[in-house]
Amino acid sequence: MTGISIAIDGPAGTGKSTVAREVARRLRLAYFDTGATYRVATLWCMREGVDLANQDDVTAMVETMNVRLVLDPRNPRVVLEDEDVSSLIRTDSVALTVSKVATNLEARAALGRWQREIIASEVAGGSSEGRGIVSEGRDITTVIAPDADVRILMTADEEIRVARRAGEGADLATVREAVLGRDRKDATVVSFHTAADGVHTLDTSDLTIEEAVQAVLDLVTEVRGDDAGEGGASSLEEPGIE
Ligand code: C5P
Repeated sequence: MTGISIAIDGPAGTGKSTVAREVARRLRLAYFDTGATYRVATLWCMREGVDLANQDDVTAMVETMNVRLVLDPRNPRVVLEDEDVSSLIRTDSVALTVSKVATNLEARAALGRWQREIIASEVAGGSSEGRGIVSEGRDITTVIAPDADVRILMTADEEIRVARRAGEGADLATVREAVLGRDRKDATVVSFHTAADGVHTLDTSDLTIEEAVQAVLDLVTEVRGDDAGEGGASSLEEPGIE
């Protein structure tokens, strides 16, 4: 039996990472933050002093970088050249630069190939023993996994998205640029503000995390025709996802 593929897209600050990760944890699926692939590629290029405006050089870096992703929703990690860079890829300097890689269409194609391989491997069995994968990003429901079993676009009002990120600590102008400025740049190459055909829209503006998680689980239940709620995954084995 092949595993389920759940795809969640949306702009920054909609809660999609938190929700996707929690859904994966409850259903014992692999959790794939595709944004991390763009972020680690950006960090690697910055470290190696690659000119981010040079599309070919950036693509070559992306194609040869040595990255391992740990897809365990309880502790997802990004390992670059044997170094755990999971926190480093979240810094402002990466967040404010990542769109340069994301708007490079050749680099996108290379990262997209890698993402499809990861998803196919988890759905076919892979590290999560065929239980499947929750993938989140900007173009997963449309470009990377348009055939996913459940496809969701998470949205939320702009000011709410900025406020959520500001609540995480940083200064407001930086947050505004890291959320809305980044969206503007990203939106030049991918469409993630309106749902494509067959994609469910989930507006999280007035939802708690728990309510958003439950809404996703309800959609999964609808598609699978079984109880996907907490404890719904019957196997109690540790997935040992990597
Ligand atoms: O989701 P996160 O904010 O970590 O994504 C970081 C960046 O990666 C986004 O701002 C966007 O530039 C890029 N991205 C993308 N397509 C995806 C996921 C992320 O272009 N599927």
